[in-house]
Amino acid sequence: MHDDRTLVESRLKRVLDERIRPAVYPDSVPLEVGIWTAPGEPVPVAEGLAAPRTPIAVGDAWGAPWGTSWITVAGTVPEAWAGRTVEALIDLGFDANMPGFQCEGLVYRPDGSPVKGLNPQNQWVRIAAPAAGGEQVLLHVEAASNPVILDYHPFLPTELGDKETAGDQPRYRLARMDLAVFDETVWQLVIDLEVLGELMAELPVESARRWEILRAVERALDGVALQDVNGTAAQARSELTDVLAAPAVPSAHRISAIGHAHIDSAWLWPLRETVRKVARTTANMTALLEDEPEFLYTMSQAQQFAWIKEHRPEVYARVRKAVADGRFVPAGGMWVESDTNMPSSEAMARQFVYGKRFFLDEFGIENHEAWLPDTFGFTGGLPQIIRNAGSKWLLTQKISWSQVNRFPHHTFLWEGIDGTRIFTHFPPVDTYNCSMKGSEIAHAARNFKDKGVARHSLAPTGWGDGGGGTTREMVAKAARLKDLEGSATVRWERPAEFFAKAEAEYPKPPVWVGELYLELHRATLTSQAKTKQGNRRSENLLREAELWCATAALRAGLAYPYEELERIWKTVLLHQFHDILPGSSIAWVHREAEATYAALAAELETLIGRAQQALAGDAAGGRELVFNAAPHARSAVAAGGASTAASTAGGCSATARAAGGFVLRNGLLDVVVDGDGLVASVVDVASGRETVAPGTRANLLQLHPDFPNMWDAWDVDQFYRNTVTDLTALDSLTVAASDTDRVAVRVARSFGSSTVVQTLTLRAGEQRLDIDTEVDWHETEKFLKAAFPLDIHTERYAAETQFGHLHRPTHTNTSWEAAKFEACNHRFVHLDEPGWGVALVTASTYGHDVTRTVRDTDGGTTTTVRCSLLRAPRFPDPRTDQGLHRFHHALVPGAGIGDAVREGYRIGLPERRVTGSVAEVAPLVALDNDALVVSAVKLADDRSGDLVVRVYEANGGRARGRLSASFVLAGAVPCDLLERPWDGTRGEVTMVDGGVELALRPFELVTLRLTAAG
Ligand SMILES: [Zn+2]
Repeated sequence: MHDDRTLVESRLKRVLDERIRPAVYPDSVPLEVGIWTAPGEPVPVAEGLAAPRTPIAVGDAWGAPWGTSWITVAGTVPEAWAGRTVEALIDLGFDANMPGFQCEGLVYRPDGSPVKGLNPQNQWVRIAAPAAGGEQVLLHVEAASNPVILDYHPFLPTELGDKETAGDQPRYRLARMDLAVFDETVWQLVIDLEVLGELMAELPVESARRWEILRAVERALDGVALQDVNGTAAQARSELTDVLAAPAVPSAHRISAIGHAHIDSAWLWPLRETVRKVARTTANMTALLEDEPEFLYTMSQAQQFAWIKEHRPEVYARVRKAVADGRFVPAGGMWVESDTNMPSSEAMARQFVYGKRFFLDEFGIENHEAWLPDTFGFTGGLPQIIRNAGSKWLLTQKISWSQVNRFPHHTFLWEGIDGTRIFTHFPPVDTYNCSMKGSEIAHAARNFKDKGVARHSLAPTGWGDGGGGTTREMVAKAARLKDLEGSATVRWERPAEFFAKAEAEYPKPPVWVGELYLELHRATLTSQAKTKQGNRRSENLLREAELWCATAALRAGLAYPYEELERIWKTVLLHQFHDILPGSSIAWVHREAEATYAALAAELETLIGRAQQALAGDAAGGRELVFNAAPHARSAVAAGGASTAASTAGGCSATARAAGGFVLRNGLLDVVVDGDGLVASVVDVASGRETVAPGTRANLLQLHPDFPNMWDAWDVDQFYRNTVTDLTALDSLTVAASDTDRVAVRVARSFGSSTVVQTLTLRAGEQRLDIDTEVDWHETEKFLKAAFPLDIHTERYAAETQFGHLHRPTHTNTSWEAAKFEACNHRFVHLDEPGWGVALVTASTYGHDVTRTVRDTDGGTTTTVRCSLLRAPRFPDPRTDQGLHRFHHALVPGAGIGDAVREGYRIGLPERRVTGSVAEVAPLVALDNDALVVSAVKLADDRSGDLVVRVYEANGGRARGRLSASFVLAGAVPCDLLERPWDGTRGEVTMVDGGVELALRPFELVTLRLTAAG
């Protein structure tokens, strides 16, 4: 037979595009349109409905950036349309390729009840089916003229990302605004032909199935009369019945589809717009659930449910009903889909606590899957947190974005730093925006790495990022793919149903140990430094507030601020969303975040101050008390307690060097700051050991050009290291403090358009060189690092993560290690040789790199740690990080891992001095082993008055110890993170007289609920 395949395929494309699709709406009449533009921010629905309209015509411009317009459409269904299906077509000026990134609308009836959302892939509103003829149509659209930030030429700097700089030029022109007849038979023919055409394109050219479909498609096209598509569509469809009825082969891959809209809680739009995005999408999805009986939808992020509950109660009522029917499925059990690299131990735990509790309280549903399709990498601490939250599964597809290495599994057990294993699935469809295209379905089946032993994968289906969700076209395609020869099969299934099947069919999945590192978006550990600093400060202040408020509640009867703390926690958790804390949102989001963090800090300082004063007693007593919120004693003040300050040891000195610079001493460290203001030597006096590698100088600021190929705020590409400028030129070098308790030098430099002042401080009795850095940063597309070349020979180093640390290699033997050229630490990195080590402690920075060289001079190894300080990308915020920044770091020579842990806590939890009348505030609880670290002391969320204490083993070894309470203990119960009794603790927790004996395994975490007697 002659080969006419491409001829038929081309014919299918042209006839679909030019004849069949246009025939879906064969008749239409224009609607009358009026508009009112809100003068500023969005207005309440009633106000928008009531505002006077002015006429506007198709083709007219509307919509200043970030504006809200209320658009009214009115018309009458023609009498001649009686018996037919009628829809309104409302095209606000959409670009079909940009659902979620463009203008959007929410349609209301005149009574204010919401109908559905409008977006570029969803422009229809059903009016009548069948129409009687003569119906009056009146609908109102709350239209948001959100500007396109990520355009066809992506990553260009734009001023549109903040209302303050975006201007007022209209961004859109009204397009089709019609009442139209919807011909369902033609629409079904379109779906038939799309499904078969897309499947055909994925099948091998030599397969019989491909040719059977081709011939059927040809017969269908032959059956379509081009001048009467509507009259012949049914006949054309009948030619396709047989090829659509052929069942899938038994070994076909099985896809569990779940309707979804990945909605970024803020990103290329501000937080307030996400509230509306969620309302539009959920209005659409609850409507689609009513229309499509087999369809199921899932939504994650308790915060987004809470938003619609508060701001769009009528939409929320529909959600509640659909959840009760089991078809709108809350997923994930987290407050937001957060970043997981940077949130602290406690914050990561609270993401699950507040997320799961919301779903339990609102719907009586407990999630068992963590749902993080888009998060930029997963820490080794996360598996234990998931398990302690009462969950057991993880879903993400993001690791498929890695630049270099292909992850070897799609379904596997992921083992964290403590040994917890979590059943994990990466959807092989490699997207969270599946649209049921044949290419996506075939990719999932081909790509699935666990073929032969497993058969199921999950496909989150619907427009996401900016919202939109699943369309009726996707549902119609899924129906045809249920059991179709040549394709994977598709069933709508809930995430929990998928996981249960996947687990059952795969009893011995492979194991991946350690972090799930994303080989992309590495610069999100550094971009938008003030957002990161606000997060870290909030986490520290929350620890202090909970500790001192709990202490004051039990000791002084002060009311515990449950509501305030919950609200503040939820705000901090929201800002850990995977485009806020990582610094990848528009300027508006980060400007607001900075203000929000400042307000939270003020509020937390008030809570802390009130609690500490209640504990210290009357200030007229004149006694100065030092409060220590850190988990280790310092300055003779117990951990979690307060007492009068011990006098410091003295013994500090600063001496000028003949060769320039100064020598700082405190009896523990001898530090040479040379004539360039660089740290030429740091000797640990006790061991006599030099910290700085021979021939090098530490605290060297280095400046790189930093212009990645894509995703400016997100990415730093490896070639940035090819060019570097060492900032050694000095403006001034002076002694900033010189007394027996403290010596410091001040180093001032300028470079480019920027200046930097660093203060290097030694304090009496402290084995630590403090480095305070103040940068007035006015660079563009640069990366600033602080380098510490250390005389350490080691193949690996430790970086702190949640509830412990993980080790990373210092070499680049394989592509996997080479790809980790920028990594995350929480409060420290630690490097050691047996018996001696160094910690570099970071107060608010997360990004770092570690490299090694072998010296020609003596053959020794130089291991260089560099902290990432600042970047200056221009997209999406064209002025990222411009201005004044303050950082605090510390170098701790002679540090064991326990010292690194201790100094890490200390740097974020400074002593507070309060004048009162008592001599001492005893801690509520005390531990007798420094390896057992308290990460939270708080009152129980159930307001029973019980004390909740979370403890973990921090050094990576086994640790025994006793937790003693300073009150009479009636009970101590191990709990999960939600403070429910839990028997999942693997170590030993034994109640003894006056306390609890703990024997914890490496990095093990235990939550105790302590009940006071009487
Ligand atoms: Zn996202």
